[in-house]
Amino acid sequence: MKLVSNAHFSAREHAAREIDRIGHMLVTRWDRSLATHLLSLVCNLERHVDDRQAGQLQTECITLRELLQQWLLQNDSMPSEPERYDELRHHLGIVSQLAMMEDRQQQPDQLHAGLAQAGPHMIYLWMPDSEAAANLAEQLSCFGFIVRSMYQASKLAQALTEATPVAVLAYTDFNVADPIFTLAQTICGLCPLLFCSPRHDFEARLQAVRAGADGFLGWPLLAHELIDNLNFGDLGEKRDPLRVMIVEDMVSLADLYASVLQHHGVDTLQLTEPAGVLDSIVQFRPDLILMDMYMPDCNGVELAQIIRQQRLLDGIPILFLSVEKRQSIQLDTLTLGIDGFLTKPVAPEELVVTVINRARRYRKLRSYIINDSLTGLLNHSHLYAQLEYEVLRAKRDQRALSLVMLDLDHFKTINDTYGHPAGDEVLVNLARFLKERLRRSDLISRYGGEEFAIVLPGTSQEDTARIMDALRQSFVLIEQPGNQRTFRQTFSAGISSLATAGDTTELVQQADDMLYQAKHKGRNRIEAYSFTR
Ligand code: GH3
Ligand code: MG
Ligand code: MG
Ligand code: MG
Repeated sequence: MKLVSNAHFSAREHAAREIDRIGHMLVTRWDRSLATHLLSLVCNLERHVDDRQAGQLQTECITLRELLQQWLLQNDSMPSEPERYDELRHHLGIVSQLAMMEDRQQQPDQLHAGLAQAGPHMIYLWMPDSEAAANLAEQLSCFGFIVRSMYQASKLAQALTEATPVAVLAYTDFNVADPIFTLAQTICGLCPLLFCSPRHDFEARLQAVRAGADGFLGWPLLAHELIDNLNFGDLGEKRDPLRVMIVEDMVSLADLYASVLQHHGVDTLQLTEPAGVLDSIVQFRPDLILMDMYMPDCNGVELAQIIRQQRLLDGIPILFLSVEKRQSIQLDTLTLGIDGFLTKPVAPEELVVTVINRARRYRKLRSYIINDSLTGLLNHSHLYAQLEYEVLRAKRDQRALSLVMLDLDHFKTINDTYGHPAGDEVLVNLARFLKERLRRSDLISRYGGEEFAIVLPGTSQEDTARIMDALRQSFVLIEQPGNQRTFRQTFSAGISSLATAGDTTELVQQADDMLYQAKHKGRNRIEAYSFTR
């Protein structure tokens, strides 16, 4: 994460803080000489906004200036309390926050821009033709990646202009004449670059680092080693960005915070109405909620308490954004289970560092609690909690929802033949496979042992059957590593949906029955529940 520095910033930041400070004194108590002082501060800021980047800040300065001038012209009356608390506070908030942030708005960096356009699953392989390379490409395609192999600089350069892949994986023996080193800079500006090599000495690693590589893998390389690398740490966060929900009644401020966070690769969802928050949390699954403390219909403290009432949402970090500077009030709020306070106007660095660190920490902690430790999939109890919610939502919105129960075939024999660790590896491979092949909105869980449950919101039973059958056919092509040789593994699955089931219990029962049928009819097959049974 790189923070931007800007020499002009401190003067602008100073002006913003001063406008905010004086302005809030006026909100609580109107005073003509203080108002005149504020007016001069605003005029000053307006003059110093560079014309080339004027934008919204200049417009907002003009609005605030005109408001103050109009109030100062009314010699015999002064602005009412609602006028000050609503109008003045609103415009102060916007002007001071824009002044803090506006000139730092840049183009999102190349890496994130590139990833946004990328097909979700495209990988470019830079390697000479060989059996191992062909096998890697084939195995990656089983996991749902679209693989393009090339070994000519002009072809790779051309391919990079056509589409931005999830990553470029380059085989090299670190010969300096290898054209990949000339292309490395271009690649790194667009997407992650990973090297794989039979060499793993210090010189080779150093050369990889100097070329800007995001990873260093051995050779020969197994598909799942690459997949794990793409889903871990910084690279993983690029594929599955941190999610921050922003609840703020002023749209322009919400947008401003959002754009600062987006610039650092964070996904944001802005809400201006507290009423929609609970639903949005379950759908968006934020890693953190950034919340305005003062909103018209329901204040931040109340909203935070409503969120904390839901067991499923209990742990989500909530950060308050507020003009509230009184420590006693801030402390009161912290005792209510709020995780922290950012005082408006907030500097972009402070926003980014505070939000990203907390969101990251929560995501990690949550994963220990809700995910199964072997596969990283949702565990049994958390699947149930989420399934209940998804069923309610699907029924309310009259949308489809399907449930799949999946079980590995003759898995006991695999353990007996290849050993328990090889069996574990199959379970992990199935988890990787399902995560790559299904949508982010699908819930994938390890239901127990070698049995998995998948919830597909918005997907009909027929579509689910088609999807699962395609998965069944791909999964059997994956080479599972045994002791001396590789082997193949199949699964069976049963499907139910809200078209036939009235509630969660029925849904689970019907999918279980269908799984039993699939096993009974010979395994390595999919069975779906229908009315005619
Ligand atoms: P079927 O096709 O009827 O499902 O046959 P099966 O052998 O898969 O079913 P069975 O229920 O007889 O055996 C399940 C096996 O799954 C037995 C158990 O040792 C194994 N298993 C369950 N959990 C794990 C695990 O975490 N790791 C490993 N390696 N094996 C596991
Ligand atoms: Mg507000
Ligand atoms: Mg089994
Ligand atoms: Mg079983």
